[in-house]
Amino acid sequence: MSNSNIRVRFAPSPTGPLHIGGVRTALYNYLFAKKNGGKFILRIEDTDQNRFVPGAEQYIIESFEWCGITFDEGVTIGGDYGPYKQSERKAMYRTYANMLIESGQAYYAFDTAEELGKIRSDYESQKKTFVYNSDERKRLRNSLNLNEDEVTALMENSSPYVIRFKMPEKEIIVMNDMIRGRVEVNSSVLDDKILFKSDGMPTYHLANIVDDHLMEISHVIRGEEWLPSLPLHVLLYDAFGWEKPEFAHLPLLLKPDGNGKLSKRDGDRLGFPVFPLEWTDPKSGNISSGFREEGYFAGAFVNMLAMLGWNPGDEREIFSLEELAEEFTIERVGKSGAKFDPAKAAWYNHQYLIKQDDGLLAKMLAPIVAENGVLAEEEQLVKAVSLVKERANFVKDLWGQLDFFFKRPVEYDAKAVKKRWKVSSYDQLTELKYVLEGISEFSSENTESVVKKWIEEKEYGMGVIMNAFRLLVVGELKGPHLFDIIELIGQEETLERIDQGLHEIGRKE
Ligand code: GLU
Repeated sequence: MSNSNIRVRFAPSPTGPLHIGGVRTALYNYLFAKKNGGKFILRIEDTDQNRFVPGAEQYIIESFEWCGITFDEGVTIGGDYGPYKQSERKAMYRTYANMLIESGQAYYAFDTAEELGKIRSDYESQKKTFVYNSDERKRLRNSLNLNEDEVTALMENSSPYVIRFKMPEKEIIVMNDMIRGRVEVNSSVLDDKILFKSDGMPTYHLANIVDDHLMEISHVIRGEEWLPSLPLHVLLYDAFGWEKPEFAHLPLLLKPDGNGKLSKRDGDRLGFPVFPLEWTDPKSGNISSGFREEGYFAGAFVNMLAMLGWNPGDEREIFSLEELAEEFTIERVGKSGAKFDPAKAAWYNHQYLIKQDDGLLAKMLAPIVAENGVLAEEEQLVKAVSLVKERANFVKDLWGQLDFFFKRPVEYDAKAVKKRWKVSSYDQLTELKYVLEGISEFSSENTESVVKKWIEEKEYGMGVIMNAFRLLVVGELKGPHLFDIIELIGQEETLERIDQGLHEIGRKE
């Protein structure tokens, strides 16, 4: 379906690394745009100068590049609705604030931080909370109460002021959310939010609404934490006389135990990443882990995130980004929070790992092999990878699953020896060595049939021989099919390992 009127945006503030909840919001916007033939825009909301963190914007861009999430317009690519960074749009927000002043829907407030601080503490001492609302504003230092001359005088001597929204009194605000349906709130519980700050910058609320309007955003899809801002946003659209976009507030990502929102601090505390990429805090130098650096495939990460809050309506779980874009609908986004499950995340990676080309996995593993001081031939490594990948979630796990292909045992698992090395083992394995020595075609199938035939003829126990044999070759009872292992390490190496093992373990008395 193609519908060029559909325009969605992801509008992060560059205040730090992007949390996976933010990546999921961007992903759902991307999928929604793709599904509907619309446009996806990246807008940087950097009006809060105090919270600006160097490197955060670049981090956001790099995260999406890694995920394969692309934009049709935005910072770095441009477009017809730019600039896409709010600090570069600064000059025009004031015009919009003025429009609301002129229509009587906003006002100047000159109350200083000290004055408000004093009122706040007076209230607190009476166990009350001060809110700058439709009731309180009647008593405060603002252009609703001061006369025109006083206001002009204050402005002329450059007294700092902010512009506040004049919240209607006791009005029922009706909103529609694509996920939650109809939502109602009484304006009497809302405060007169600041729209324009004394530093000459708009607040998030004003800049966000103005930009969504000017950029012709049709659907605002964002995190549930913005739902409390929706009444103000709806009123702002009405105040300007603008058509409203549709709104969808996505459910929160929860901690693995379901107790509360998955926070930026949870990641390394609970032993898993909460950021797509590793992040070094520019102030403290602290490093937070990232899914990429932990060894996640981008496809697995994106697939896992998509399924946290959305489902295809059946049991399927594995989807490429393209497949998600075909299937995604807001109607299938759940209302309740989605628990992040680190084990499930690893499971997704496993599903992607086993589908990877063995040659590619071997290439990714090669540096780890080299770090362990092992020189592995590429062909051998590829074969070893193919034999063990079913047992790994991450490329880095592969080494522990296949090290024995390239290294003789340096010790023999004591527990396994105790249990599996029988009184008869020394003689039986010595005999097996001669059997193996006599085989001319040392393929897995051939050695398997020769060895099994020998065991049957001798009436030895299959389990007894095979466990002892594995112990000598691998050093412990792990690994794939033993005949595949010996084919790969070769006849000579197999015989030498048997010799070494017999010598090291010796006869059981
Ligand atoms: N700048 C806001 C944020 O950091 C955007 C919220 C919205 O999408 O309206 O998430």
